[in-house]
Amino acid sequence: MSFSVHGLSVGRGLGGTGVAIGRAVRVLSSRANVAHYFITPDQAPTEVQRIRAAKNAVVDEMQRLQLSLSGGVNSDAPHELSAIMDVHLMLLQDDTLAEGVRHYIEERHYNAEWALTTQLEVVAEQFDAMHDSYMRERKGDLEQVVERVLKQLQGSAQLTAIHQANHESLILVAHDLSPADMIRFKSDVFSGFVTDVGGKTSHTAIVARSMGIPAIVGAKSASQLVCQDDWVIVDADASVLIVNPTDRILAQYRKKQADGLAAWHEHLASESRDIKQSTPLLAPDGTAITLLANIEMPGDTAAALAAGAQGIGLFRTEFLFMGRAILPDEEEQYAAYSEVVVAMKGMPVTIRTIDIGADKPLDASHGQACGAHTNPALGLRAIRWCLAEPAMFLTQLRALLRASVHGRIEVLIPMLAHESEIKQCLLMVDRARAQLDAAGVPYGVIGLGAMIEVPAAALIAPTFMKYFDFLSIGSNDLIQYTLAVDRTDETVAHLYDSNHPAVQFLIESTIKQCVAAGKPISVCGEMAGDGSHTQALLAMGLRSFSMHPSQMATFKKFAKQ
Ligand code: PEP
Ligand code: MG
Repeated sequence: MSFSVHGLSVGRGLGGTGVAIGRAVRVLSSRANVAHYFITPDQAPTEVQRIRAAKNAVVDEMQRLQLSLSGGVNSDAPHELSAIMDVHLMLLQDDTLAEGVRHYIEERHYNAEWALTTQLEVVAEQFDAMHDSYMRERKGDLEQVVERVLKQLQGSAQLTAIHQANHESLILVAHDLSPADMIRFKSDVFSGFVTDVGGKTSHTAIVARSMGIPAIVGAKSASQLVCQDDWVIVDADASVLIVNPTDRILAQYRKKQADGLAAWHEHLASESRDIKQSTPLLAPDGTAITLLANIEMPGDTAAALAAGAQGIGLFRTEFLFMGRAILPDEEEQYAAYSEVVVAMKGMPVTIRTIDIGADKPLDASHGQACGAHTNPALGLRAIRWCLAEPAMFLTQLRALLRASVHGRIEVLIPMLAHESEIKQCLLMVDRARAQLDAAGVPYGVIGLGAMIEVPAAALIAPTFMKYFDFLSIGSNDLIQYTLAVDRTDETVAHLYDSNHPAVQFLIESTIKQCVAAGKPISVCGEMAGDGSHTQALLAMGLRSFSMHPSQMATFKKFAKQ
């Protein structure tokens, strides 16, 4: 990805589609979980007061600490410590910080936390531009004091978020965003996203696409080159990022945005006509195609139904677990899985067991699966982590079994490669049933399926077919592991090739063996919703496709060709 300031340039847009125009909001990846919402103008004084109180509390705390350093029990503390605290106090009380924060609260109507982190970015840029290396290094001190104020602000929020309708559109620009952050932004104020890192099938990009929001991931150094408040255009279709456009370019893109929206509305209208007439989608040989939805949260079933999905082909349950200090217990999981089953009203529901690890780490407090491994994609991920954490896995299996009283659930196991792992999984399911029996808790019937996303699994497909009721090809990982190309690394994105003969061979042979044996098979990776593969997959015999609801309308066009 490349782009120019005050100009136009072309690169790869790997996230969602469409055009977004707005002001850049630069967010440090580590602060992506700070609350971002608009306030009403009459709430501004409360927000200004909140931030003032938080700042004063930190100043008090630091002054008390300083006092204890100069006398009392800590009188042996090095002189440097007191000097550092002087610097922190000075930064904290500096007018530039306070005035900027006030500006973002009063003029832009940002909530206090958001105003503070936005102004931090502005001042940090000024530090970066300084010639004096001592001064440049003070940026770290500033970040530390802001962190303390943010902590102080926690829990003091009393305002409720308001809708962004009357506010100018905003584009979030960050070095990196975790998939969990992206999910959080689903209900947030941003109308476009740009990140420096990430590949086309990184989970951050997948979530961006599922949100249907224009996004560019893998934009290399965008977060350093775009400044806070710059006007930016994100054209995710044409892979263009424009910073501070001229009026003429802005007008052209406003038109493109409006045309795109109009076409999209027309498309949706014709789709909903199709759905109402329940036009069956047929393959060229007249057999029916089943269109299933990929979801990340129980609430996503609404979009799936609206798009005409005939069931859920992949519920990525790890999104219930990410970004949380306390993991969901059996009751919470039972409620989430039941919600999906009930919402889908008897249609098939495939729920994948937790696929944590790699680019979907748990909160750092959970140790092993927090992502700090040398090769996380090859490490303790998905079923490997589940088998290493049997108590957690059993909790999830019990919740799934219990939820299946509301309707059959197809339980899908990710990243299996070994027959021994398959046998362990089956034993765990038996054990979960036995635990429920012992406790007298009712449960229903589940189907069991395996994801084919490691080449070893594709190469021994008959073994998988022996043990499982159905298979589902996870093409995102199958490509990554077949070609040894990290799906999250934009520097090797050009080698991530879904058309590579080795990938095609593994997919075709798995599909054909399943079709020949009458074993249900679907594809739930991004390939399923990618129109350039539709006809080839149909020719291989595939009849079940699982994709984001936002991709279904386009898919139908490709399937009808
Ligand atoms: C896949 O690998 O294709 C898949 C569907 O799983 P995920 O993208 O969640 O790894
Ligand atoms: Mg996968």
